[in-house]
Amino acid sequence: MEERIAGVIEQQRAFFKGNQTKDLSFRRAQLSLLKQVLKDNEEAMYEAIYQDFGKSAFETYMSELALVYHEINSLLKNMGKWSRKRRVPTGLANFPASSYILPEPLGVTLVIGAWNYPFQLSLIPAITALGAGNTVILKPSELPTRSSAILAKLINDHFPPEYFFVMEGGVPETQALLAQRFDKVFFTGSTSVGKIVYQAVAKHLTPVTLELGGKSPTFVLADADLKMTAKRLVWAKFLNAGQTCIAPDYVLVDQAIELEFLQVLKAELELFQERTQNYQEHYSRIINHKNFDRIHRLIHPEKLFFGGETNREERFISPTILQGVSFDDPVMEEEIFGPVLPVLTYNKLDEAIAWVKERPKPLSCYIYSTHRKSIKKILCEVSFGGGAVNDSLMHISNSNLPFGGVGMSGFGRYHGKAGFEEFSHFKSILDKPLWFEAPLKYLPYSPLKKKLIKWLLE
Ligand code: NAD
Repeated sequence: MEERIAGVIEQQRAFFKGNQTKDLSFRRAQLSLLKQVLKDNEEAMYEAIYQDFGKSAFETYMSELALVYHEINSLLKNMGKWSRKRRVPTGLANFPASSYILPEPLGVTLVIGAWNYPFQLSLIPAITALGAGNTVILKPSELPTRSSAILAKLINDHFPPEYFFVMEGGVPETQALLAQRFDKVFFTGSTSVGKIVYQAVAKHLTPVTLELGGKSPTFVLADADLKMTAKRLVWAKFLNAGQTCIAPDYVLVDQAIELEFLQVLKAELELFQERTQNYQEHYSRIINHKNFDRIHRLIHPEKLFFGGETNREERFISPTILQGVSFDDPVMEEEIFGPVLPVLTYNKLDEAIAWVKERPKPLSCYIYSTHRKSIKKILCEVSFGGGAVNDSLMHISNSNLPFGGVGMSGFGRYHGKAGFEEFSHFKSILDKPLWFEAPLKYLPYSPLKKKLIKWLLE
Protein backbone atom coordinates (compact mmCIF):
# COMPACT_ATOMS: atom_id res chain seq x y z
CA MET A 1 0.00 0.00 0.00
CA GLU A 2 2.78 2.46 0.97
CA GLU A 3 4.53 1.84 -2.36
CA ARG A 4 1.34 2.37 -4.33
CA ILE A 5 0.67 5.64 -2.51
CA ALA A 6 4.23 6.86 -3.01
CA GLY A 7 3.95 5.91 -6.69
CA VAL A 8 0.79 7.95 -7.29
CA ILE A 9 2.24 10.95 -5.45
CA GLU A 10 5.38 10.75 -7.56
CA GLN A 11 3.30 10.59 -10.74
CA GLN A 12 1.23 13.58 -9.60
CA ARG A 13 4.34 15.56 -8.73
CA ALA A 14 5.79 14.94 -12.17
CA PHE A 15 2.49 15.84 -13.85
CA PHE A 16 2.19 19.05 -11.84
CA LYS A 17 5.73 20.03 -12.80
CA GLY A 18 4.68 19.80 -16.44
CA ASN A 19 2.52 22.93 -15.86
CA GLN A 20 -0.54 21.57 -17.67
CA THR A 21 -2.76 22.02 -14.62
CA LYS A 22 -2.00 25.76 -14.70
CA ASP A 23 -3.61 26.08 -18.10
CA LEU A 24 -7.12 27.50 -17.71
CA SER A 25 -8.58 25.68 -20.70
CA PHE A 26 -7.26 22.36 -19.33
CA ARG A 27 -8.85 23.05 -15.94
CA ARG A 28 -12.15 24.04 -17.56
CA ALA A 29 -12.20 20.88 -19.66
CA GLN A 30 -11.52 18.67 -16.62
CA LEU A 31 -14.24 20.25 -14.51
CA SER A 32 -16.73 20.03 -17.37
CA LEU A 33 -15.82 16.38 -17.81
CA LEU A 34 -16.38 15.74 -14.11
CA LYS A 35 -19.78 17.43 -14.25
CA GLN A 36 -20.77 15.27 -17.22
CA VAL A 37 -19.58 12.08 -15.52
CA LEU A 38 -21.66 12.92 -12.44
CA LYS A 39 -24.74 13.83 -14.51
CA ASP A 40 -24.47 10.58 -16.48
CA ASN A 41 -24.26 8.53 -13.30
CA GLU A 42 -26.76 10.23 -11.01
CA GLU A 43 -29.02 7.18 -10.71
CA ALA A 44 -26.13 5.00 -9.57
CA MET A 45 -25.11 7.65 -7.05
CA TYR A 46 -28.66 7.90 -5.66
CA GLU A 47 -28.73 4.13 -5.31
CA ALA A 48 -25.37 4.07 -3.49
CA ILE A 49 -26.57 6.65 -0.96
CA TYR A 50 -29.86 4.80 -0.57
CA GLN A 51 -27.94 1.62 0.19
CA ASP A 52 -25.71 3.40 2.71
CA PHE A 53 -28.27 5.67 4.40
CA GLY A 54 -31.76 4.75 3.18
CA LYS A 55 -31.92 8.35 1.99
CA SER A 56 -34.23 9.53 -0.80
CA ALA A 57 -32.94 10.61 -4.23
CA PHE A 58 -34.56 14.02 -3.68
CA GLU A 59 -32.54 14.66 -0.53
CA THR A 60 -29.36 13.33 -2.11
CA TYR A 61 -29.81 15.72 -5.00
CA MET A 62 -30.63 18.68 -2.74
CA SER A 63 -27.97 18.14 -0.07
CA GLU A 64 -25.19 16.62 -2.18
CA LEU A 65 -25.25 16.82 -5.97
CA ALA A 66 -26.86 20.25 -6.31
CA LEU A 67 -24.10 21.72 -4.12
CA VAL A 68 -21.40 19.98 -6.19
CA TYR A 69 -22.87 21.21 -9.51
CA HIS A 70 -23.24 24.71 -8.09
CA GLU A 71 -19.57 24.73 -7.09
CA ILE A 72 -18.41 23.41 -10.48
CA ASN A 73 -20.51 26.06 -12.26
CA SER A 74 -19.16 28.77 -10.00
CA LEU A 75 -15.56 27.67 -10.72
CA LEU A 76 -16.17 27.45 -14.47
CA LYS A 77 -17.59 30.96 -14.41
CA ASN A 78 -15.09 32.61 -12.08
CA MET A 79 -11.78 30.80 -12.06
CA GLY A 80 -10.44 32.89 -14.96
CA LYS A 81 -11.07 36.01 -12.92
CA TRP A 82 -9.75 34.50 -9.69
CA SER A 83 -6.55 33.29 -11.41
CA ARG A 84 -5.71 36.72 -12.79
CA LYS A 85 -2.82 38.84 -11.64
CA ARG A 86 -4.02 41.28 -8.96
CA ARG A 87 -2.46 44.72 -9.15
CA VAL A 88 -1.78 46.61 -5.90
CA PRO A 89 -0.38 50.12 -5.25
CA THR A 90 3.43 50.39 -5.12
CA GLY A 91 4.15 53.53 -3.06
CA LEU A 92 6.77 56.20 -3.58
CA ALA A 93 9.68 54.27 -2.03
CA ASN A 94 9.81 51.97 -5.04
CA PHE A 95 9.02 54.50 -7.76
CA PRO A 96 9.00 53.70 -10.64
CA ALA A 97 7.65 50.13 -10.39
CA SER A 98 4.49 48.10 -10.44
CA SER A 99 3.33 45.62 -7.81
CA TYR A 100 1.09 42.65 -8.28
CA ILE A 101 0.04 39.36 -6.74
CA LEU A 102 0.08 36.16 -8.78
CA PRO A 103 -2.23 33.35 -7.64
CA GLU A 104 -0.61 29.97 -8.21
CA PRO A 105 -1.62 26.40 -7.36
CA LEU A 106 0.09 24.73 -4.43
CA GLY A 107 0.83 21.40 -6.12
CA VAL A 108 -0.11 17.88 -5.05
CA THR A 109 -3.04 17.96 -2.63
CA LEU A 110 -4.73 15.43 -0.38
CA VAL A 111 -8.45 15.67 0.42
CA ILE A 112 -9.81 13.50 3.24
CA GLY A 113 -13.61 13.25 3.40
CA ALA A 114 -16.13 12.54 6.15
CA TRP A 115 -18.98 10.03 5.85
CA ASN A 116 -22.14 12.04 6.49
CA TYR A 117 -22.38 13.63 3.02
CA PRO A 118 -20.03 11.33 1.13
CA PHE A 119 -20.23 13.12 -2.23
CA GLN A 120 -20.22 16.83 -1.50
CA LEU A 121 -17.78 16.74 1.44
CA SER A 122 -15.25 14.92 -0.75
CA LEU A 123 -15.98 16.42 -4.15
CA ILE A 124 -16.32 20.12 -3.32
CA PRO A 125 -12.80 20.43 -1.85
CA ALA A 126 -11.45 18.20 -4.64
CA ILE A 127 -12.98 20.24 -7.49
CA THR A 128 -11.89 23.46 -5.79
CA ALA A 129 -8.32 22.15 -5.65
CA LEU A 130 -8.49 21.16 -9.34
CA GLY A 131 -10.04 24.50 -10.26
CA ALA A 132 -7.14 26.30 -8.59
CA GLY A 133 -4.73 24.19 -10.71
CA ASN A 134 -3.62 21.46 -8.30
CA THR A 135 -3.60 17.69 -8.62
CA VAL A 136 -5.71 15.72 -6.11
CA ILE A 137 -5.65 12.47 -4.21
CA LEU A 138 -9.05 12.01 -2.60
CA LYS A 139 -9.59 9.67 0.35
CA PRO A 140 -13.34 9.38 1.01
CA SER A 141 -14.65 8.00 4.29
CA GLU A 142 -14.75 4.21 4.45
CA LEU A 143 -18.06 4.07 6.37
CA PRO A 144 -20.55 4.56 3.50
CA THR A 145 -19.05 1.69 1.52
CA ARG A 146 -21.23 1.95 -1.62
CA SER A 147 -20.82 5.72 -1.94
CA SER A 148 -17.06 5.45 -1.48
CA ALA A 149 -16.87 2.66 -4.10
CA ILE A 150 -18.86 4.54 -6.73
CA LEU A 151 -16.86 7.70 -6.17
CA ALA A 152 -13.64 5.73 -6.73
CA LYS A 153 -15.02 4.05 -9.82
CA LEU A 154 -16.32 7.22 -11.46
CA ILE A 155 -13.17 9.23 -10.85
CA ASN A 156 -10.61 6.51 -11.50
CA ASP A 157 -12.37 5.40 -14.70
CA HIS A 158 -12.43 8.91 -16.17
CA PHE A 159 -9.33 10.68 -14.87
CA PRO A 160 -5.65 9.70 -15.02
CA PRO A 161 -4.15 8.96 -11.59
CA GLU A 162 -1.40 11.51 -12.15
CA TYR A 163 -4.10 14.21 -12.08
CA PHE A 164 -7.05 13.06 -9.96
CA PHE A 165 -7.12 9.81 -8.04
CA VAL A 166 -9.46 8.32 -5.44
CA MET A 167 -7.83 6.10 -2.88
CA GLU A 168 -10.36 4.16 -0.84
CA GLY A 169 -9.59 3.02 2.68
CA GLY A 170 -9.86 3.60 6.41
CA VAL A 171 -7.45 4.51 9.18
CA PRO A 172 -4.34 2.59 7.94
CA GLU A 173 -4.68 4.01 4.41
CA THR A 174 -5.22 7.55 5.74
CA GLN A 175 -2.21 7.26 8.01
CA ALA A 176 -0.08 5.92 5.16
CA LEU A 177 -1.15 8.89 3.04
CA LEU A 178 -0.44 11.33 5.85
CA ALA A 179 3.08 9.96 6.24
CA GLN A 180 3.85 11.37 2.78
CA ARG A 181 4.60 14.97 1.91
CA PHE A 182 1.81 16.89 0.22
CA ASP A 183 1.64 20.55 -0.74
CA LYS A 184 -1.77 20.89 0.90
CA VAL A 185 -4.06 18.71 3.00
CA PHE A 186 -7.77 19.37 3.35
CA PHE A 187 -9.48 17.35 6.08
CA THR A 188 -13.16 17.08 7.01
CA GLY A 189 -14.06 15.08 10.09
CA SER A 190 -14.05 15.01 13.86
CA THR A 191 -12.01 17.29 16.10
CA SER A 192 -10.15 14.30 17.59
CA VAL A 193 -8.96 13.01 14.19
CA GLY A 194 -8.32 16.61 13.14
CA LYS A 195 -5.64 16.75 15.84
CA ILE A 196 -3.99 13.59 14.45
CA VAL A 197 -4.00 15.09 10.95
CA TYR A 198 -2.54 18.37 12.21
CA GLN A 199 0.34 16.54 13.92
CA ALA A 200 1.04 14.42 10.86
CA VAL A 201 1.21 17.34 8.42
CA ALA A 202 3.37 19.39 10.80
CA LYS A 203 6.27 17.02 10.07
CA HIS A 204 6.33 18.30 6.49
CA LEU A 205 5.15 21.85 7.28
CA THR A 206 2.23 21.20 4.96
CA PRO A 207 -0.54 23.80 5.05
CA VAL A 208 -3.80 22.26 6.18
CA THR A 209 -7.48 23.10 6.30
CA LEU A 210 -9.40 21.44 9.11
CA GLU A 211 -13.18 21.31 8.71
CA LEU A 212 -14.24 19.87 12.06
CA GLY A 213 -17.38 19.58 14.17
CA GLY A 214 -18.72 20.61 17.54
CA LYS A 215 -21.94 21.38 19.35
CA SER A 216 -23.75 24.10 17.40
CA PRO A 217 -26.22 26.06 19.55
CA THR A 218 -29.56 27.53 18.51
CA PHE A 219 -30.89 30.52 20.42
CA VAL A 220 -34.69 30.89 20.49
CA LEU A 221 -35.54 34.25 22.01
CA ALA A 222 -38.86 35.22 23.58
CA ASP A 223 -39.72 37.43 20.60
CA ALA A 224 -39.10 34.71 17.97
CA ASP A 225 -41.74 33.82 15.39
CA LEU A 226 -42.31 30.37 16.85
CA LYS A 227 -44.14 28.77 13.95
CA MET A 228 -41.44 29.68 11.44
CA THR A 229 -38.72 28.83 13.96
CA ALA A 230 -40.13 25.34 14.44
CA LYS A 231 -40.56 24.77 10.71
CA ARG A 232 -36.99 25.73 9.81
CA LEU A 233 -35.44 24.14 12.87
CA VAL A 234 -37.18 20.78 12.41
CA TRP A 235 -36.12 20.59 8.76
CA ALA A 236 -32.51 21.47 9.56
CA LYS A 237 -32.14 19.21 12.58
CA PHE A 238 -33.69 16.08 11.09
CA LEU A 239 -32.30 16.31 7.56
CA ASN A 240 -30.06 13.26 7.11
CA ALA A 241 -31.34 12.13 10.54
CA GLY A 242 -29.30 14.83 12.24
CA GLN A 243 -26.01 13.56 10.79
CA THR A 244 -24.99 17.01 9.59
CA CYS A 245 -21.92 18.87 10.86
CA ILE A 246 -23.81 22.18 10.96
CA ALA A 247 -27.07 20.73 12.34
CA PRO A 248 -28.48 22.62 15.32
CA ASP A 249 -27.07 20.47 18.12
CA TYR A 250 -29.16 21.89 20.95
CA VAL A 251 -31.65 24.68 21.63
CA LEU A 252 -31.38 27.43 24.23
CA VAL A 253 -34.86 28.84 24.65
CA ASP A 254 -36.11 31.67 26.85
CA GLN A 255 -37.81 30.05 29.84
CA ALA A 256 -40.84 32.33 29.40
CA ILE A 257 -41.79 30.64 26.10
CA GLU A 258 -40.44 27.12 26.68
CA LEU A 259 -43.78 25.34 26.89
CA GLU A 260 -45.30 27.20 23.98
CA PHE A 261 -42.14 26.52 21.92
CA LEU A 262 -42.23 22.80 22.73
CA GLN A 263 -45.88 22.58 21.67
CA VAL A 264 -45.20 24.31 18.35
CA LEU A 265 -42.18 22.08 17.82
CA LYS A 266 -44.30 19.02 18.49
CA ALA A 267 -47.02 20.19 16.09
CA GLU A 268 -44.40 20.76 13.39
CA LEU A 269 -42.89 17.31 13.92
CA GLU A 270 -46.31 15.68 13.74
CA LEU A 271 -46.89 17.51 10.49
CA PHE A 272 -43.42 16.45 9.27
CA GLN A 273 -44.40 12.83 9.85
CA GLU A 274 -47.97 13.16 8.57
CA ARG A 275 -47.12 15.04 5.41
CA THR A 276 -45.44 11.97 4.04
CA GLN A 277 -47.46 9.07 5.37
CA ASN A 278 -44.55 6.77 4.72
CA TYR A 279 -42.06 9.34 6.05
CA GLN A 280 -39.72 6.57 7.10
CA GLU A 281 -39.00 5.99 3.41
CA HIS A 282 -37.79 9.56 3.09
CA TYR A 283 -35.94 9.68 6.35
CA SER A 284 -32.29 8.66 6.64
CA ARG A 285 -30.94 5.80 8.70
CA ILE A 286 -28.05 6.04 11.15
CA ILE A 287 -24.78 5.19 9.39
CA ASN A 288 -23.91 2.09 11.48
CA HIS A 289 -24.79 0.21 14.65
CA LYS A 290 -21.97 1.80 16.62
CA ASN A 291 -23.46 5.24 16.04
CA PHE A 292 -26.99 3.92 16.56
CA ASP A 293 -26.02 2.61 20.01
CA ARG A 294 -24.20 5.82 20.88
CA ILE A 295 -27.21 8.02 19.98
CA HIS A 296 -29.66 5.59 21.59
CA ARG A 297 -27.84 5.93 24.91
CA LEU A 298 -28.36 9.71 24.80
CA ILE A 299 -32.16 9.41 24.85
CA HIS A 300 -32.84 9.60 28.58
CA PRO A 301 -36.43 8.30 29.10
CA GLU A 302 -37.12 10.82 31.87
CA LYS A 303 -36.25 13.71 29.58
CA LEU A 304 -38.13 12.43 26.55
CA PHE A 305 -40.67 14.97 25.27
CA PHE A 306 -41.32 13.64 21.78
CA GLY A 307 -40.28 10.69 19.58
CA GLY A 308 -37.73 8.23 20.88
CA GLU A 309 -38.88 5.35 18.65
CA THR A 310 -36.02 3.17 17.54
CA ASN A 311 -35.33 0.05 15.51
CA ARG A 312 -31.80 -1.24 15.88
CA GLU A 313 -31.98 -3.69 13.00
CA GLU A 314 -32.97 -0.91 10.61
CA ARG A 315 -30.74 1.66 12.33
CA PHE A 316 -33.80 3.88 12.67
CA ILE A 317 -34.23 6.61 15.29
CA SER A 318 -37.30 8.82 14.97
CA PRO A 319 -37.04 12.61 15.40
CA THR A 320 -36.65 13.05 19.14
CA ILE A 321 -36.95 16.05 21.46
CA LEU A 322 -35.57 16.08 24.99
CA GLN A 323 -36.91 18.52 27.58
CA GLY A 324 -35.51 19.82 30.87
CA VAL A 325 -31.94 19.11 29.79
CA SER A 326 -28.96 20.66 31.57
CA PHE A 327 -25.33 21.02 30.55
CA ASP A 328 -24.46 18.17 32.97
CA ASP A 329 -26.47 15.62 30.99
CA PRO A 330 -24.54 13.12 28.82
CA VAL A 331 -26.35 14.44 25.73
CA MET A 332 -24.54 17.77 26.25
CA GLU A 333 -21.06 16.25 26.48
CA GLU A 334 -20.31 15.65 22.82
CA GLU A 335 -21.67 16.52 19.40
CA ILE A 336 -24.90 14.49 19.02
CA PHE A 337 -24.70 13.85 15.27
CA GLY A 338 -28.13 12.20 15.26
CA PRO A 339 -31.87 13.01 15.37
CA VAL A 340 -32.02 14.05 19.03
CA LEU A 341 -32.68 17.67 19.95
CA PRO A 342 -32.17 18.68 23.60
CA VAL A 343 -33.98 21.82 24.70
CA LEU A 344 -32.40 23.86 27.51
CA THR A 345 -33.85 27.00 29.03
CA TYR A 346 -32.35 30.27 30.18
CA ASN A 347 -33.61 33.19 32.28
CA LYS A 348 -31.48 35.94 30.84
CA LEU A 349 -29.91 36.12 27.42
CA ASP A 350 -26.58 37.08 29.02
CA GLU A 351 -26.43 33.80 30.92
CA ALA A 352 -27.17 31.78 27.74
CA ILE A 353 -24.44 33.65 25.91
CA ALA A 354 -22.03 32.99 28.78
CA TRP A 355 -22.77 29.22 28.68
CA VAL A 356 -21.95 29.06 24.98
CA LYS A 357 -18.80 31.14 25.42
CA GLU A 358 -17.52 28.82 28.17
CA ARG A 359 -17.48 25.97 25.64
CA PRO A 360 -15.35 25.30 22.54
CA LYS A 361 -16.19 27.62 19.66
CA PRO A 362 -18.83 25.84 17.56
CA LEU A 363 -18.94 25.35 13.80
CA SER A 364 -22.35 27.03 13.56
CA CYS A 365 -24.82 29.05 15.57
CA TYR A 366 -28.43 29.95 14.82
CA ILE A 367 -30.47 32.81 16.24
CA TYR A 368 -34.25 32.94 16.09
CA SER A 369 -35.52 36.37 17.09
CA THR A 370 -37.24 39.45 15.71
CA HIS A 371 -35.31 41.84 17.95
CA ARG A 372 -32.37 43.24 15.98
CA LYS A 373 -30.54 44.45 19.08
CA SER A 374 -30.50 40.98 20.65
CA ILE A 375 -29.45 39.39 17.34
CA LYS A 376 -26.61 41.88 17.07
CA LYS A 377 -25.57 41.18 20.65
CA ILE A 378 -25.25 37.43 20.05
CA LEU A 379 -23.46 37.95 16.72
CA CYS A 380 -21.01 40.28 18.42
CA GLU A 381 -20.38 38.26 21.57
CA VAL A 382 -20.36 34.62 20.43
CA SER A 383 -17.57 33.30 18.20
CA PHE A 384 -18.51 30.51 15.77
CA GLY A 385 -17.68 29.37 12.23
CA GLY A 386 -20.80 30.59 10.43
CA GLY A 387 -24.54 30.50 10.82
CA ALA A 388 -27.89 32.08 10.17
CA VAL A 389 -30.44 34.46 11.64
CA ASN A 390 -33.98 33.06 11.63
CA ASP A 391 -32.83 30.03 9.68
CA SER A 392 -30.54 27.02 10.05
CA LEU A 393 -28.15 25.24 7.69
CA MET A 394 -28.99 27.28 4.59
CA HIS A 395 -25.88 29.46 4.82
CA ILE A 396 -24.01 26.49 3.33
CA SER A 397 -25.94 26.89 0.07
CA ASN A 398 -24.51 30.36 -0.63
CA SER A 399 -21.00 29.95 -2.03
CA ASN A 400 -20.36 33.66 -1.50
CA LEU A 401 -20.24 32.85 2.21
CA PRO A 402 -16.87 31.27 3.09
CA PHE A 403 -17.48 28.04 5.02
CA GLY A 404 -15.28 26.89 7.91
CA GLY A 405 -14.81 26.67 11.63
CA VAL A 406 -12.94 28.58 14.32
CA GLY A 407 -11.06 27.28 17.36
CA MET A 408 -11.92 23.62 18.00
CA SER A 409 -14.31 23.54 15.03
CA GLY A 410 -11.38 23.98 12.67
CA PHE A 411 -9.63 26.56 10.55
CA GLY A 412 -9.43 27.61 6.93
CA ARG A 413 -12.47 28.08 4.74
CA TYR A 414 -13.86 27.01 1.40
CA HIS A 415 -16.76 27.34 -1.06
CA GLY A 416 -16.53 29.82 -3.92
CA LYS A 417 -13.64 32.27 -4.01
CA ALA A 418 -12.58 31.42 -0.44
CA GLY A 419 -11.99 27.79 -1.48
CA PHE A 420 -10.03 28.82 -4.56
CA GLU A 421 -7.79 30.93 -2.35
CA GLU A 422 -7.42 28.12 0.21
CA PHE A 423 -5.84 25.97 -2.51
CA SER A 424 -3.66 28.76 -3.91
CA HIS A 425 -0.47 30.54 -3.01
CA PHE A 426 -0.31 34.27 -3.62
CA LYS A 427 3.05 35.24 -5.01
CA SER A 428 3.85 38.91 -4.35
CA ILE A 429 5.93 40.59 -7.03
CA LEU A 430 7.59 44.00 -7.25
CA ASP A 431 8.34 44.63 -10.93
CA LYS A 432 10.90 47.38 -11.67
CA PRO A 433 11.98 48.96 -14.94
CA LEU A 434 15.66 49.66 -15.60
CA TRP A 435 15.58 53.29 -16.75
CA PHE A 436 15.81 54.90 -13.30
CA GLU A 437 17.38 54.18 -9.92
CA ALA A 438 17.11 56.63 -7.02
CA PRO A 439 20.49 57.08 -5.23
CA LEU A 440 18.94 57.38 -1.76
CA LYS A 441 19.57 53.92 -0.31
CA TYR A 442 23.22 53.79 -1.44
CA LEU A 443 26.37 55.00 0.31
CA PRO A 444 27.47 57.58 1.21
CA TYR A 445 24.66 58.19 3.76
CA SER A 446 23.85 61.78 4.74
CA PRO A 447 21.37 63.64 7.00
CA LEU A 448 19.50 64.87 3.93
CA LYS A 449 19.17 61.33 2.57
CA LYS A 450 17.89 60.20 5.97
CA LYS A 451 15.26 62.92 5.97
CA LEU A 452 14.11 61.95 2.51
CA ILE A 453 14.08 58.22 3.33
CA LYS A 454 12.04 58.99 6.46
CA TRP A 455 9.53 60.91 4.41
CA LEU A 456 9.32 58.14 1.81
CA LEU A 457 9.13 55.11 4.13
CA GLU A 458 7.03 56.31 7.03
P1 NAD B 1 -13.76 11.04 11.43
O1 NAD B 1 -12.85 12.06 12.00
O2 NAD B 1 -14.00 9.79 12.18
O3 NAD B 1 -13.26 10.59 9.97
C1 NAD B 1 -12.91 11.50 8.96
C2 NAD B 1 -11.87 10.87 8.06
O4 NAD B 1 -10.70 10.59 8.81
C3 NAD B 1 -12.28 9.58 7.39
O5 NAD B 1 -11.91 9.62 6.03
C4 NAD B 1 -11.53 8.51 8.17
O6 NAD B 1 -11.15 7.42 7.35
C5 NAD B 1 -10.30 9.25 8.65
N1 NAD B 1 -9.83 8.77 9.95
C6 NAD B 1 -10.57 8.32 11.01
N2 NAD B 1 -9.79 8.00 12.06
C7 NAD B 1 -8.51 8.26 11.68
C8 NAD B 1 -7.22 8.13 12.31
N3 NAD B 1 -7.10 7.67 13.55
N4 NAD B 1 -6.13 8.51 11.61
C9 NAD B 1 -6.23 8.98 10.36
N5 NAD B 1 -7.41 9.09 9.71
C10 NAD B 1 -8.53 8.75 10.34
O7 NAD B 1 -15.11 11.84 11.15
P2 NAD B 1 -16.47 11.29 10.62
O8 NAD B 1 -17.03 10.36 11.65
O9 NAD B 1 -16.32 10.78 9.22
O10 NAD B 1 -17.35 12.59 10.54
C11 NAD B 1 -18.05 13.08 11.63
C12 NAD B 1 -17.39 14.32 12.20
O11 NAD B 1 -17.00 15.18 11.15
C13 NAD B 1 -18.31 15.13 13.05
O12 NAD B 1 -17.60 15.64 14.15
C14 NAD B 1 -18.74 16.27 12.15
O13 NAD B 1 -19.14 17.42 12.82
C15 NAD B 1 -17.52 16.49 11.36
N6 NAD B 1 -17.84 17.07 10.08
C16 NAD B 1 -17.43 18.34 9.82
C17 NAD B 1 -17.77 18.92 8.62
C18 NAD B 1 -17.35 20.32 8.28
O14 NAD B 1 -17.55 20.72 7.15
N7 NAD B 1 -16.76 21.06 9.17
C19 NAD B 1 -18.52 18.22 7.70
C20 NAD B 1 -18.91 16.92 8.00
C21 NAD B 1 -18.56 16.34 9.20
